[in-house]
Amino acid sequence: MSELELENRNFVAGEWCVPENGTGLPVVNPATKGHVGTLQVADAGLAGRAVAAAKAAFPGWAGLSGKERGAYLTKMAEAIRADMDRLVEIQRLNNAKPRQEAINDIADSADCIAYYADIAAALDGRQGEDAPYERDRVGTRFHYHPVGVAALILPWNFPFKICAWKLGPALAAGCTVVVKPSELTPFVENEWGRIAQQAGLPAGVLNIVHGTGDEVGAALVANPDVDKISFTGSTKVGSSIMASAAQDIKRVGLELGGKSSIIVFDDADIDTAARLVMEGIFYNCGQCCNATSRLLVQEGLRERLLERLREQAAELVVAGPENDAADMGPLMSQTQFDKVTGYFETAQSEGLAVVSGGAAHARSDGFFVQPTIYADVPQESRLWNEEIFGPVLAVRGFTTADDAVAQANACDYGLAATVVSQDLAQANDVAQRLEAGHVYVNTPVAIFPQTMWGGFKKSGLGRELGRWGLEGFLEPKAVTFAK
Ligand code: NAD
Repeated sequence: MSELELENRNFVAGEWCVPENGTGLPVVNPATKGHVGTLQVADAGLAGRAVAAAKAAFPGWAGLSGKERGAYLTKMAEAIRADMDRLVEIQRLNNAKPRQEAINDIADSADCIAYYADIAAALDGRQGEDAPYERDRVGTRFHYHPVGVAALILPWNFPFKICAWKLGPALAAGCTVVVKPSELTPFVENEWGRIAQQAGLPAGVLNIVHGTGDEVGAALVANPDVDKISFTGSTKVGSSIMASAAQDIKRVGLELGGKSSIIVFDDADIDTAARLVMEGIFYNCGQCCNATSRLLVQEGLRERLLERLREQAAELVVAGPENDAADMGPLMSQTQFDKVTGYFETAQSEGLAVVSGGAAHARSDGFFVQPTIYADVPQESRLWNEEIFGPVLAVRGFTTADDAVAQANACDYGLAATVVSQDLAQANDVAQRLEAGHVYVNTPVAIFPQTMWGGFKKSGLGRELGRWGLEGFLEPKAVTFAK
């Protein structure tokens, strides 16, 4: 994989560039702790130039019809599909995901962009729609304007894919964008610049600047020419962005943390339940905002399910991208490793019952930890309440559906939840009562572009994907006129 050509610069006004007196930031492969490449980070000045480029490109891009913008998006989706293998390998070099997980990310990204190509074209048909009322002398029509320049600030856990979730609707709406990737996963995100070039996107419509959140991210948030901030990341940073954005009443979309429950009833098919629990917590090494990191299991199935999970966790292949049989890769960084192993120490000091794991992995050349399960976790435990963002499952029992709902909803977050039961009436009733933006019934926590993503409570503000994704980048306008 090392012969892959990695683009390490910033992409501003259609050109690859580095700031004057720029600095290099080493990027690490989490499976080896080895050096992947050096990122040429931007500074506040280059971030400002990127915003200026996006602002200059805005009238032209916004002035196209939705159908014309959709044609560019279609070309972008085609460019991704034509380059799948290389994109998958760059992504793995940067974050060491198991191959299938990386393939899923890139394929989903192409699907998302293709979906918003259609949505862009459909927007034309909504312009000038009549408001649904009848008056003799007056009528109202609705119009939808792009918000303006959007800053897209990204995390590292699903690089490229989360960018697609934002780029698709932003470009479809007619916004121009400045992308700020996580400094941990810049190389695969830079491929968006190449894709923009291949699709012939006008210069300045899509810009990418790299750097730390404190400097480059904060410079974008503070820039008065940025009209919308679409942020995915931690609740702490999201809260600070919301506070800064308040100065100029900037539009904000926040996709933040989670501590989601999977609720397994006695009548569940145990094979299905075990599979959904395992995928829900160990996919992407648990570094998923929608990880179902709390298992609530009804007392009658508790022992059998825990035994099944113990067996399956022991069988997981924990390895880096050199091993195509890997089920779970490493954590993303030393910071993540320290955080997750810190929770192992907390669990030990709290005297939690270990079902599986609970320690760093024997393989110490990367940031590997063991798939971990704790049983009978007290409701006040930090492991029950805090987002760990690692492969750590906390288990509690429940008696009735009311008890399960009450325990699941006793949480600061409200992103996702899963219900596993063969009694669909019961499962659907529980789904309605859960405080979560997306509830899954007997199915994995997959996210399709045509649906919706976002959370209740401290999991965020607004919704991405589906038609909600587009609305987040539009300013609706009503024109009321005399007949
Ligand atoms: P993070 O909040 O540390 O960083 C996210 C991005 O914000 C990075 O690009 C970072 O450089 C930037 N940033 C940091 N400080 C900033 C500031 N002051 N101003 C502007 N930008 C700043 O999050 P992370 O560690 O990259 O990602 C993990 C978190 O993301 C988890 O909490 C996870 O739940 C959340 N997440 C949520 C979703 C979702 O859809 N809800 C999806 C993925 C990840």
